[in-house]
Amino acid sequence: MATARLVRLLLTAAAVGYGQEVAKAPAAPPPPHCGSVRTAIEAHNIIGWKTVSAECAEYIARYITGDRYQRDSDVVINEAIAYAESLKLSGEGKEVWVFDVDDTALSTLPYQGKHGYGAQQYDQSSFLEYVAQGSAPALKATLRLYERLLQLGIKPVFLTDRAEYQRAVTTSNLLQQGYCNWEKLVLQPVTEQISTQAFKTSQRQKLVSAGYIIVGNIGDQWSDILGSPEGCRTFKFPNPMYYVA
Ligand SMILES: [Mg+2]
Repeated sequence: MATARLVRLLLTAAAVGYGQEVAKAPAAPPPPHCGSVRTAIEAHNIIGWKTVSAECAEYIARYITGDRYQRDSDVVINEAIAYAESLKLSGEGKEVWVFDVDDTALSTLPYQGKHGYGAQQYDQSSFLEYVAQGSAPALKATLRLYERLLQLGIKPVFLTDRAEYQRAVTTSNLLQQGYCNWEKLVLQPVTEQISTQAFKTSQRQKLVSAGYIIVGNIGDQWSDILGSPEGCRTFKFPNPMYYVA
């Protein structure tokens, strides 16, 4: 009787892998529609959203930290460079290219990684702390466009909804990351209370009124590139983590 019990016990232990690490079940794949949601976000078909949905949070985190984000960025930048190289410049040095800063020229991924890659509500104070560190890394694809534009004689203009009091840290961050030369760095006046799109549109109008030709305009938000004068061509840099109107 005791022997039979022992045999049953040994058979049960073998069946459950006793003494060995039990293999973990593979992580469930993200819902298949999350890729379609990301495409709709990039195409500006989904607008006004506050956070990445809980069910797509893992998908977005994997996307933004993986190769696909890099490849998508390179495709945009390759198109922008090909377009810039096709231009016939006036020779008067009036052609400019407008760059957004956050998540276009400089990355917020070190910050986003601690805040769910868009799955958590935007927290202004912690984000301002990140900006104040001045440690945001360059987005390498955008830096490649920037360097090619300088070679071609097209002047960069940085137009950001960062505030004027952040000028010093923004300047040093850009310089440290290889953005070493620009025509203008335009920031929001501290008192400015208008939307990003309205602010950027008005600043582009000032550039045009001053005689500049905006040959290109690139940003990770549609609010960077909508609103006349938007520039002769606009380029939407990938960002499925948050939405700024
Ligand atoms: Mg941005």
